[in-house]
Amino acid sequence: MPMRDLSAGPRVLLRRLRELMAEPLDPQERLDRIVRQIASNMVAEVCSVYVLRSDGVLELYATEGLNPEAVHLSQLKMGQGLVGTIAASAQPLNLSDAQAHPAFRYLPETGEEIYHSFLGVPILRAGRTLGVLVVQNKASRTYREDEVEALETTAMVIAEMIATGELKKITKPGLELDLTRPVTIEGDGYNEGIGLGHVILHEPRVVVTNLLNEDAESEVRRLAEALGSLRISIDDMLSRRDVATEGEHREVLETYRMFAYDQGWVRRMEEAIHNGLTAEAAVEKVQSDTKARMMRLTDPYLRERMHDFDDLANRLLRQLTGFSGRSIGEGMPADAIIFARAMGAAELLDYPRERLRGLVLEDGAVTSHVVIVARAMGIPVVGQAVGAVALAENGDAAIIDGDDGQLHLRPVSDVLKAYEEKVRLRARRQEQFRALRDVDPVTKDGKRISLMMNAGLIVDLPHLPESGADGIGLFRTELQFMIASTMPKLEEQEAFYRNVIRQAGGLPVTFRALDIGGDKVVSYFRAHEEENPALGWRAIRLSLDRPGLLRTQLRALLRASADAELRMMLPMVTEVAEIHAVRDLLQKEVQHLSKFGHSLPRKLQFGAMLEVPALMWQLDELMAEVDFVSVGSNDLFQFSMAADRGNARVSDRFDMLGRPFLRILRDIVRAAERNKTPLTLCGEMAGKPLSAMALIGLGFRSVSMAPTSVGPVKAMLLSLDADRLTETLNAALDDRQPREPVRELLMRFAAENGIPV
Ligand code: PEP
Ligand code: MG
Repeated sequence: MPMRDLSAGPRVLLRRLRELMAEPLDPQERLDRIVRQIASNMVAEVCSVYVLRSDGVLELYATEGLNPEAVHLSQLKMGQGLVGTIAASAQPLNLSDAQAHPAFRYLPETGEEIYHSFLGVPILRAGRTLGVLVVQNKASRTYREDEVEALETTAMVIAEMIATGELKKITKPGLELDLTRPVTIEGDGYNEGIGLGHVILHEPRVVVTNLLNEDAESEVRRLAEALGSLRISIDDMLSRRDVATEGEHREVLETYRMFAYDQGWVRRMEEAIHNGLTAEAAVEKVQSDTKARMMRLTDPYLRERMHDFDDLANRLLRQLTGFSGRSIGEGMPADAIIFARAMGAAELLDYPRERLRGLVLEDGAVTSHVVIVARAMGIPVVGQAVGAVALAENGDAAIIDGDDGQLHLRPVSDVLKAYEEKVRLRARRQEQFRALRDVDPVTKDGKRISLMMNAGLIVDLPHLPESGADGIGLFRTELQFMIASTMPKLEEQEAFYRNVIRQAGGLPVTFRALDIGGDKVVSYFRAHEEENPALGWRAIRLSLDRPGLLRTQLRALLRASADAELRMMLPMVTEVAEIHAVRDLLQKEVQHLSKFGHSLPRKLQFGAMLEVPALMWQLDELMAEVDFVSVGSNDLFQFSMAADRGNARVSDRFDMLGRPFLRILRDIVRAAERNKTPLTLCGEMAGKPLSAMALIGLGFRSVSMAPTSVGPVKAMLLSLDADRLTETLNAALDDRQPREPVRELLMRFAAENGIPV
């Protein structure tokens, strides 16, 4: 049977549907009327809605034309039959002879055998399939492109209805819809701990509530204007001189530009508008269709491009709706688990810490700065949680398990109960570690190991007495700068350091001079975009080029430590000459303060961080120059292995407990012994019992770590015979034909000697 002219059809239909959505109907009645309306408008004999349940079954929820008895009875699994195929592929199926299709599956209860033509489209929301919408006709015909498009547009309205939760009322008891399906994602545990809470999307989706337009032409104009501004902003970014001519940043922008000028994309959005959607709903529809298809890709390069496309569509949505908000502040639950694809350290610090229960990253790496900050904040982190952002909605219940690297979205009550038990067990274990608080960290063979903690914020300081650490081995002063909205003034810095020293209650605090640059972004400090920020203008390099900044910090540190001991160290030292330069500035500050009658520190301990491999060939000169050396193993490892610590593809590729890195560390220990220079290590490896054990075996007698690691590391060393390990480890590192990886040897050593690692 020929179809009526459809040019006005979809618009009329959408208007009717809008009226139906607004009427006070019960959900089954509403759905029944919707399918009747669609069938009549599209001159189809059948219109049916299948909704995807959490058990992967598509259930017939309403039909016009098929046997009404089949409603809530007919079921197809994902991938089964035509309907299941549409749901699994997220692609429409347009068939003139449905029964000839290999996937066709006959459901006798429906009485559908008399219908030949079949058009089915997925019901999509944010790229997820929620169900399938089907029309059928007796006559054999192929539906036109515009009819497919019209049915897809209509499916969006049904997606909204499913998303609002209205259909729950007509879902069989004991069953759930897919939207509320529990999902478990396996990622990597980047910081231990368990968090029970609710999802906050770091970049919340723009929720389009205004779906249907009044006037297509003005919506097309709105879209064109928004696209125009979007293109200008991308072109502007590309022509900025600080965007390098090559490199990843440029590549992303080029991809954005390619999408922004893509005529196919624009045409599909315009079509959706002509079918009755507003400009923003059209952007969302096309975004959702594209995402649903691309989510099934396995090629990592193409998946990455999907993120780019998604970002671009979000930008366009923000242009159109004026929406820019983050979920920080109001509306943020008291038990927030932040979901982000990637995030900078400063962005995490924007969230009120007392409300954070966890951080989920789709990307990230274990020593990236955002993870270090999260660790300093004491929140569990799971990274490499692929697909987490797309599967989560703001406000969904979630459990993050940083111990096992798991994420549970919308957990069922059994999982929730199991985790509540796990939380209790953890608390008991923490209790055991707390009991060790006042026990001296002395190995079985009598070596006193100094266990220090890392910090960077005032809120970290209560952890010092709680953890029983010997002091603060690394105070990251840049965090104060990163959370401030303007550059902290001399007085603010001084008050801050004074407060830290006071709260440390006489225990030593090692302040590290500003380590900004790279990914430690300080918004008010305008630095140029760099192609290789980790190797760029950062830390001591930046401070020496901006002596005003460094002198202010030195002055604040000297004043805050009046009549006490000041311990400070320099990050990212590459040449000994840099230390001289800072010493000269320090000398000037000392003279300035004495001239004006200020009290000076009773004692000054001036150290350097060993993070850049070039220092390995200046060890004796370096140690002659400083009072102590602290190994920054995060950076030293990344530079030694040429493996970006923030890039998950390479950050775990090489083992910190492999022979090359352990030999580097052993050379440092030997130089420190030779020069009688106090040595410590403050990278993340100090906080893991197994690697801390290796460090003690290499000869380290001081390590600094996140406060929560102090207990487990202490428990480890109390059962360790350090000299025996040194012997074993040295033999393994000297072995020219090693058969066993050192990590395995260490694990075996721990197991054989009953050492908890
Ligand atoms: C390190 O590099 O190991 C270190 C402690 O410094 P940060 O992690 O702050 O770069
Ligand atoms: Mg470092």
